[in-house]
Amino acid sequence: MPRHTKIVATLGPASSDPEVLERMIRAGVDVVRLNFSHGKAQDHIDRATLVREAARRVGKPVAIMADLQGPKIRVGKFAEGKVMLEQGQPFVLDAGRAEPGDLGGVGLDYKELPRDVKPGDTLLLNDGLIVLVVDAVRGEQVHTVVKIGGELSNNKGINKQGGGLTAPALTAKDMEDIKTAMSFQCEYLAVSFPKNATDMEMARQLANVAGEPWRHKPGMIAKIERSEAIPVLDQILKASDGIMVARGDLAVEVGNAAVPALQKRMIRMAREMDKVTITATQMMESMIQNPVPTRAEVSDVANAVLDGTDAVMLSAETAAGKYPVETIEQMAAIALAAERAEDFQLDANFTNKKFARIDQSIAMGALFTAHHLGCKAILALTESGSTALWMSRYRIDVPIYGLTTQAKSERAMALYRNVRPILMGKFDDRDTALAAAERVLVDRGVLRPGDTYAITCGEPMGYPGGTNMLKVCRVG
Ligand code: PGA
Ligand code: MN
Repeated sequence: MPRHTKIVATLGPASSDPEVLERMIRAGVDVVRLNFSHGKAQDHIDRATLVREAARRVGKPVAIMADLQGPKIRVGKFAEGKVMLEQGQPFVLDAGRAEPGDLGGVGLDYKELPRDVKPGDTLLLNDGLIVLVVDAVRGEQVHTVVKIGGELSNNKGINKQGGGLTAPALTAKDMEDIKTAMSFQCEYLAVSFPKNATDMEMARQLANVAGEPWRHKPGMIAKIERSEAIPVLDQILKASDGIMVARGDLAVEVGNAAVPALQKRMIRMAREMDKVTITATQMMESMIQNPVPTRAEVSDVANAVLDGTDAVMLSAETAAGKYPVETIEQMAAIALAAERAEDFQLDANFTNKKFARIDQSIAMGALFTAHHLGCKAILALTESGSTALWMSRYRIDVPIYGLTTQAKSERAMALYRNVRPILMGKFDDRDTALAAAERVLVDRGVLRPGDTYAITCGEPMGYPGGTNMLKVCRVG
């Protein structure tokens, strides 16, 4: 059985060598994340070219996800590059400060902070390693007392416990970055810190307008990393194509202990709403330095797989780590072993589900038939990839093959759990197309004479959303 769970790897200095990237793709990368928090527009354009070329050399569909920086709130720079904060000392976050910081305080890139906080609030710096408690707000200055000290260096992030910062999700920089990302037609666009559905709708509109010259519309991924996003998760999901369980910032805002349960809930809700999920941050963190993961990391990746995530993500492990290729190899092996341990049963509520759309009920019919008949594979002839997406929202031990004539649909399907995308030629005639699809799977060694498979298509051929036919075949 091929691996169901997909791997997202972040590109960075450790993985920008064409040969290393090629090895990473061979080892199992399905989606490459370009992190717009680092680098200039031209760097991202060059990296996108690098990804497209490496994927072509390997002969494997790889999607690109552009990840916008968003309104990450950061302290300014220090005269000495860093300071050592001691517990109990005062420290001033000063939106009006232009000169470099020192042990008494530091400037802020987010000028609204003094209006967003009140005495008693807890601020977490550097991913929660440093904790400050607000004592008083005076004009542009937030006076705090250090509750947990440590080293604070240039441009470290600030989160407010419990949320409540008013920064809009899309900054002026993000709006420029969307244009850059559309110029290389990223398959997915990840929005950082969305608070509500409107943030996602606005981002989608900007992306669609910027993608107009290429008639390109990316899949929109909402990074769930703010407290405010949790109560409106269903609305955010509705406005998005998928979500990222962005455990780094989320853990700082809601507290570490709340995250595992939230991860499970987010993945379940997303699947129920036919959306995709990416589980992210610190999955294989120790492999930044070490050639093997910790037992806890192995369990974390395996549990995300068992939760039903579409993809597991690597950040610094592949962007800046010592072992980018080994990390992918290990992650792929862990995912595969976890999938094997799964108890494959069609969801109990499956038989009572009602569908309003013809294409969606055909997709469900294919799952039902393939599962009960023990088919070798499910083949979905799909223009947009949506038939394969619907099928992949359910656990099933039959591999799904998404066959499309559109290269961009092929790459987009790379993120869907248990879907292997395949590009095939265009046929006007149904029977020729069905025969060609079977031949592709036989040529790949997936199907052998005597095997049964389920195949879906739409008639007339070649229109997205037109799937209206299910056929069960035996290879002759
Ligand atoms: P980031 O997002 O790495 O861009 O901060 C992921 C997270 O917060 O977990
Ligand atoms: Mn984040």
